[in-house]
Amino acid sequence: MQGWFFNTGLQDSEQARIVRRVLFALVAGGLAHTLVCWIAAQLGFFRGSNAVFFGLFLAIWSGHVALILFTLAGLNRRLRDPAMTMPVIWWSTTALLVSAFYIDQARLCVMLLFFAILQTGVFRSRRRDLVFVGIYCVLVYLAILLLVSRWYPEAVDRQAELIQWGTFAVMTLAVAMLASEIGTIRNTLARRNRELGEIVERIQRLAVRDELTGLYNRRYAMERLAKIREMAGRGAFGVVIAYADLDHFKQINDTYGHALGDEVLRRFAERASALLSGRDFCARFGGEEFLLVLAKTDMERARSVLEQLRGELAQEQFEHAPALRVTVSQGLAEYIEGEPLEAWLARADEALYRAKGQGRNRTVVAPRRPLEGGPVG
Ligand code: GH3
Ligand code: MG
Ligand code: MG
Repeated sequence: MQGWFFNTGLQDSEQARIVRRVLFALVAGGLAHTLVCWIAAQLGFFRGSNAVFFGLFLAIWSGHVALILFTLAGLNRRLRDPAMTMPVIWWSTTALLVSAFYIDQARLCVMLLFFAILQTGVFRSRRRDLVFVGIYCVLVYLAILLLVSRWYPEAVDRQAELIQWGTFAVMTLAVAMLASEIGTIRNTLARRNRELGEIVERIQRLAVRDELTGLYNRRYAMERLAKIREMAGRGAFGVVIAYADLDHFKQINDTYGHALGDEVLRRFAERASALLSGRDFCARFGGEEFLLVLAKTDMERARSVLEQLRGELAQEQFEHAPALRVTVSQGLAEYIEGEPLEAWLARADEALYRAKGQGRNRTVVAPRRPLEGGPVG
C-alpha cells in the first residue's frame, strides 16, 4: 500500500490537493447531475426507457471513475496542466449535454448545472479555455434543440426552448465576463505578489548589505565578527581584522566629483572582495572606511594579503581621472584570546591612526598586547 501511494505521488501535498479536488468535483457534481436527472425521470420528463437512463448514467459514471483513477495513478502529472481542471470541465459539460438530449421539459434545469461546473475553473483556468468551453456548451445545446425538434417534434415546444436557450446563452456570456474580470484581478494580484516578493528581497539585502559597494554593512559585519570571535575564542583558529581608510578621499571628491568618489569606493570593494576567500569578508563601515576580517589566518598571511590590496589599489586606473592614484592606510590587529571585541577593534583603529600619522599609504600592525596609556601618534 505504501509503495502504491508512493508511486502515485500522493505524499506530495500538491498532488494530494489535486486528487481531492478532482474527487470532489466529479463525485459531488456527478451526484447532483444524477439526482436532477433522476427526479426529472420520476416526473416523466426523461424521453427514453429505464434501460436508456441506466445505460446513460453508467457511461457517465464510468467516465467520472476513469478520470478519478487517472488522477489517483498520478498520470495527470504528465499533462501540461496537471491540475486536471479543464479535462474535468470538458468531460462534465459533455455528460451534461448528452443527458440534456433526453430530458425535454426540464432541459434548462439540467443545463443550469453548467454554471456550477464552470465556477470550478474560474480561479484556476485561463480565460480563453473557459470561453471555449462556454461556446462549446451553448452551441451543442442549440444543436441538441434542433435535433430534438426535428426528430421528436411532438416532444418539444420549439419557441419556449429557444427562449430558454437564449437565456442560457446570455447567462453564459455574463459568467464569462465575470470570469474574465476575476482573471484580471487574479493577474493583478499575482503581479503585486511578485513585486512584493522583490521588495522583500531588496529589504533583506539592504539589511545586511551596503547599497553602493554591495559589501556587508557595519551592523551585519559586527554580528558576523562577534560570531567568528566566539569560535576563535576557543583557540580554534587565528583571526586578523584590518581597518582600511582611503587616503585624502575628501580631496578626490573635491577634485573629481562625488560620482568618481563612488567609483573609487566600488573599485576598492571589488579588489578587496577578489582577494578574500572562504569565511573572510570585507564590510563598509561608513564613508571611505572598511573593515576586513581574515579568519583562519596568522598575521603574516593577513599582512601580505593587505599589502597586495594596497598595491593593487595604487595601480588602479580610472577612465575619467587618468592622473588619479588612490592609496589606502590600513591598521591590522590579530585577535588575542579573551580580548573583548571593543578592545580588539580599538587596537586595529589605533594601528590605522598610526599608519595615517606615519604618512599614509601603508599597513601598520598593532602590537599583540594592548597599549598602556593613550594613542601613539
Ligand atoms: P584621510 O586621508 O585622513 O583619511 O582624509 P580623508 O579626506 O580621506 O578623510 P575625511 O574623513 O576628511 O573625508 C572623508 C570623505 O569621504 C568625506 C565625505 O564627503 C566622503 N564620503 C563619505 N561617504 C561617501 C560616499 O558614499 N561617496 C563619496 N563619493 N564620498 C563619500
Ligand atoms: Mg575616514
Ligand atoms: Mg580617509
